[in-house]
Order: sequence, then structure tokens, then C-alpha cells
Amino acid sequence: MTTEFDQIATRILAGGQATEADALAVLQAPDAELMPLVAAAGRLRREHFGNTVKVNYLVNLKSGLCPENCNYCSQALGSDAPILKYSWLSTDETLQQAGAGLRGGATRVCMVSSGRGPSNRDIDKVAEMTEALKEEYPEVEVCACLGLLKDGQAERLKAAGVDAYNHNINTAESNHDNIVQTHTYGDRVDTIGKVKDAGLSPCSGLIAGLGETDEQLVEALFALKELDSDSIPVNFLMPFDGTPFENTWELSPIRCLKILVMARFVCPDREIRIAGGREMHLRSLQAIALQVANSIFLGDYLTSEGQDAKADIAMIRDNGFVILGAEDEFAGDSGEPSIRRRGAGTEVPANA
Ligand code: SF4
Repeated sequence: MTTEFDQIATRILAGGQATEADALAVLQAPDAELMPLVAAAGRLRREHFGNTVKVNYLVNLKSGLCPENCNYCSQALGSDAPILKYSWLSTDETLQQAGAGLRGGATRVCMVSSGRGPSNRDIDKVAEMTEALKEEYPEVEVCACLGLLKDGQAERLKAAGVDAYNHNINTAESNHDNIVQTHTYGDRVDTIGKVKDAGLSPCSGLIAGLGETDEQLVEALFALKELDSDSIPVNFLMPFDGTPFENTWELSPIRCLKILVMARFVCPDREIRIAGGREMHLRSLQAIALQVANSIFLGDYLTSEGQDAKADIAMIRDNGFVILGAEDEFAGDSGEPSIRRRGAGTEVPANA
């Protein structure tokens, strides 16, 4: 039987586009339609990405101590979340952390720092780290995520060998001022424009579960399509204690899966990455979500633990997928999300 969602997928595969009404229909589909939804989105996923999963690894270069007030963020001004706080890692520490992720199966290293945006000296540091990383791991893809960029900074990162730059829009423009007041939606879009102009691959995504409506989720996805984001991290709010969003639980596993399906319909050929909150919110549907999304973070997030990296790799392989750019076999067991107490900023080895 051909479902409504299968018809949408067929239209998109023939060169058409999902409409806002299609996207809303996905979000509002009855739960009993979940498998047809996944099957339809899976056709698009396999058309563009086959059975590959891209594995990314986060290195938090500078943790906490941020002057911005993003309400969802454990590193924000005013957050009492009990996270690790530290200033810049050295190049050696960064290489050590990134190496753990790369040996664990990642092909992209995402180097992130807290803060409104980098100084020119910060750009120099990241440039040095990138050059050192590429010398040791010539195949690595480097993504930087350093906040709002000033003129010329994206070009300097590009010249140092940075491949991509992440700056999430996070939510719909119409919801943005409810989640942060120290910068504007326009500031964020401006940085994505600078990234594109410098020839870096733009990575921009969202966080679901910030009090947005279905229509605002659709608005955010169409904005990302318009911005031409190459990779789209879909985060699910982790409501840290000590932040304004503590105790905000708006998401169910099925809701998260529908959000990923919508993202695939709207941006069929883009890297859809299941990002922060994967384990906490998708729970037992994580594996099914790989039928829709084609990218994950390995192991830990910036300030919270992910499931064991070996469990991530096992999940990929158990479900018939292969890791993009890596052939090694891994196996392992699972863990539960909790505050990160290992890797960068600690004496304990990273989760990879
Ligand atoms: S999201 Fe970035 S800019 Fe916002 S508070 Fe967190 S670290 Fe600072």
C-alpha cells in the first residue's frame, strides 16, 4: 500500500520539494504511522547516503565561562549546571582528545569553544591546532564552532585548513528572542553568511524542545534549507539543572523521530546529524533513527556524557550501516547520559 508519506518521498526523489504543509503533516502524523514515515524518509536517506553513517567527534576547547545567556546552555552566563569549566586546551591536549575520537571511528573532528565569538588570538590558536591535527591525521575533516565571527576570521580559518564551520540557528526566528537575549537571530545568520563566503562548509542546525510550536519547527527547517546548510545537527534539549530550561521535558522518542523525518523531507540531500540528547530522548528508537539520519556524534557531548562510543559503533554495524571512511570492527555496551567527567579538562581518558 502506498502511503501519503511514500507519495511525498516519490515526489522528492523525482526532483520535487517538500512543502511546509508536508512538513507539518509529518510532525502531526498519528503515532501509528511511524513506520511508514521512517520507510518513506529512509528512501531519501539511501538515495543520497546509501548505508553510510558519518561519525563526528566533539572536542570542547574551552568549557563554560560564557558571557552569553542562551537559556538552553549549561555553559551560559547564569547557569549553575555542575559542568567542567576550563580555559583553552593546548594544541597537544587537543591532538590527544581528537586522536581518541579518530581512533574510535570518527572522520570529522568538531572543535568547539564557548563564548560569544573568537578573538583574533583565538583564531590563531585554532589555526595552529588545525594544522597540527591535519599533519598527524591528513584525512581528518575539521569543523570549528567558535561563535559569532568577525570579518576576515572565516577566511583565516579556511586558510589554516578548517573544512567546515558550525553555527546553529537553534530555533525559528520567531522563537529566537525567547531563548537568548544577548545576541540576535540576525547575528547568527550573519555568521553563517561569512562562513559560506569564505568557502567553508556551513553546518547549522537546531535544538528541538525549546517551547517551539510545530509551525516554528517547520519554520526553522525551511530557514536552514534557505541558508543552504550542508550539515544539519538536530539537537534535542537536554534540560540541565541550573539553567532556565531545567525540568523542561517536551519531547518523546516518537516526536524526535518525526522531527528527523521532517528534516530529511525538507533537506533530503543534506547531512542530517542526530546530535545532543540522542540517547536521552530517542532512547530505544536511536537505531531506527539511523534509517532517517546519516550522521551522529561519537561518545560524549560538550558538557554531558553520551553512550559509550563502542555502543555507538555497534549500533551502526548492528543495523546494517557502515561508517563513512572507516572499516574497523568495534563492539561494546551502552551507558546513560550524565555530566561529562572525562576527556578534556580531566585526568580521565576521553570516551572514544
Ligand atoms: S550556546 Fe555558545 S554562546 Fe550560547 S551560552 Fe552556550 S557557549 Fe555561550
